[in-house]
Amino acid sequence: MIRSPSSVAGTASLADRLEALLPQTQCTKCGFDGCRPYAEAMAAGQAASNRCPPGGAEGIVRLSAMLGVAPQPLDPEHGVEQARAVARIDESLCIGCTLCIQACPVDAIVGAAKQMHTVLPDWCTGCDLCVAPCPVDCIAMIPVTGANTGWAAWSQEQADAAHGRYQSRKIRLVREREENDARLAAKAAAKLEALQAEAAASDAEQAAQARKKAIIQAAIERARQKAAAVPPRNTDNVSPGVQAQIDAAEARRAKLGLTDQPDPQSQNKPHNQNNPDGSAGPGENSKNDDSRS
Ligand code: SF4
Ligand code: SF4
Ligand code: SF4
Repeated sequence: MIRSPSSVAGTASLADRLEALLPQTQCTKCGFDGCRPYAEAMAAGQAASNRCPPGGAEGIVRLSAMLGVAPQPLDPEHGVEQARAVARIDESLCIGCTLCIQACPVDAIVGAAKQMHTVLPDWCTGCDLCVAPCPVDCIAMIPVTGANTGWAAWSQEQADAAHGRYQSRKIRLVREREENDARLAAKAAAKLEALQAEAAASDAEQAAQARKKAIIQAAIERARQKAAAVPPRNTDNVSPGVQAQIDAAEARRAKLGLTDQPDPQSQNKPHNQNNPDGSAGPGENSKNDDSRS
């Protein structure tokens, strides 16, 4: 989605408007964990408008105009305005540790564990966050914009694209974490079930089993509390199809003991009995749903 400054006018908050003026490299040089937190701090009067080196002098003028303050020179504590660089990996040295992938805020590095990694130059924002984690120092930042700096070296379209990739990455990371949590919870539940089915041959074995059960139950309870602490996201005005997926995911979470809600399957009729044609209901749409829980 294009989110140029004019596209966030109207009802947008001051933080939204300030964010739309930022380059979206997510480099953290302003001292905040990305462009959005810096925009929020400026909107709250907690940060000056001269802390973003990638935006440079022109960026400071734009932000200051939005805030109604006089532009100040770039604060040297946060860096200098310079040509935009693109990361380049010396593939002959890369050991495939994936640390750079984990550091890249816009998914501009491709590669897999123990394989050579490479940078997608068109996606690289030049944030240089991948450089420090590399254990073999094989990432170099190569200036690519000659004498052009700040917004003369970075277009609004590039900023919008970087913002989109940053958002997609955040969504992916949350989904992966949730999927991993669900996998671990299912594994723990299966282990508990297996332990409960085991007969103990002696008092010592019984005590060992009880200890194991207590450890697993504590782990399941921690997972349940963690899941309960995460508020539902984007669940207003969802389509019936999406609502069905949410219901199916909640049913599985209830089965695994990861929610305070009772298992809806035990209270309601099965979905396929709700359909007049006897076809499978949304709860049975298992393959796709599993990947989303
Ligand atoms: S681009 Fe500017 S606002 Fe965004 S993280 Fe970097 S320094 Fe902060
Ligand atoms: S490849 Fe490196 S410099 Fe380029 S965006 Fe990713 S982390 Fe930043
Ligand atoms: S951090 Fe360095 S060594 Fe590790 S995968 Fe990235 S480029 Fe290769």
